[in-house]
Amino acid sequence: MVTLRAVIFDMDGVIVDSEPRHERAFREVFAAMGYAGTHGIEFQAYYGRSDRALWQDFVDRHQPPQPIDELIAWKQRRFLEILREDQPLFADAPGLVADLSASYLLALASGSLHPVIDAVLEMGGLRRFFPVIVSSQDVARGKPAPDIFLRAAERMGVAPGECCVIEDAAAGVEAARAAGMATIAITNSLPADRLARADHVVSSYSEIRALLLDRSRAACRQRPTRGQGISDTSTAGPRGPRGRMSPPAG
Ligand SMILES: [Mg+2]
Repeated sequence: MVTLRAVIFDMDGVIVDSEPRHERAFREVFAAMGYAGTHGIEFQAYYGRSDRALWQDFVDRHQPPQPIDELIAWKQRRFLEILREDQPLFADAPGLVADLSASYLLALASGSLHPVIDAVLEMGGLRRFFPVIVSSQDVARGKPAPDIFLRAAERMGVAPGECCVIEDAAAGVEAARAAGMATIAITNSLPADRLARADHVVSSYSEIRALLLDRSRAACRQRPTRGQGISDTSTAGPRGPRGRMSPPAG
């Protein structure tokens, strides 16, 4: 049994209701480029993935004159404008982050670029809760590769099996599974059946709170078929940021 010590948050679709706004920013840039009805991008397929992944497919398909880095920067500028106008934090997310920070090490692992991450964390006063922040910029391969979550665990100084990932996208769930981490998927962006490979699929932040903080239940336990189980805090001694440092029993 491995004690859960760290929680890694995805950002887009978990902390901030950004997926519709990413899509809006992409659509506006596509329209300005002359591809309003012909871009051919299925946005849901890119939830949880980096902007570069979407732009690379767009470039491969349409061969636009602009270099990909210019397209990435263009969409990001527009997205940041929309973000600052709308301030779309999920209402219950900041409270959950604050409460979990009292019992777990926290990290943010996002497919977004650092300027976007900075804007979101500034919006909610959330930066202080995330000593570790990893962007897809910082690793070789974005989700669904496990790199970003493994880097977050490494920087927190915990084993992958001691981490639980909170995700909203199928690519993120696959990345967390590939990293050997427990996963909770919240249905903010996709229906439950698209997230079924997560250990737990929930529709509210209170369910996440119950899974990770309710001492009365064996929370966030991995499925038996996944190998090692993960214990909740009920047997891990006193609460607190260092309250669950019992070593993994393997
Ligand atoms: Mg996401």
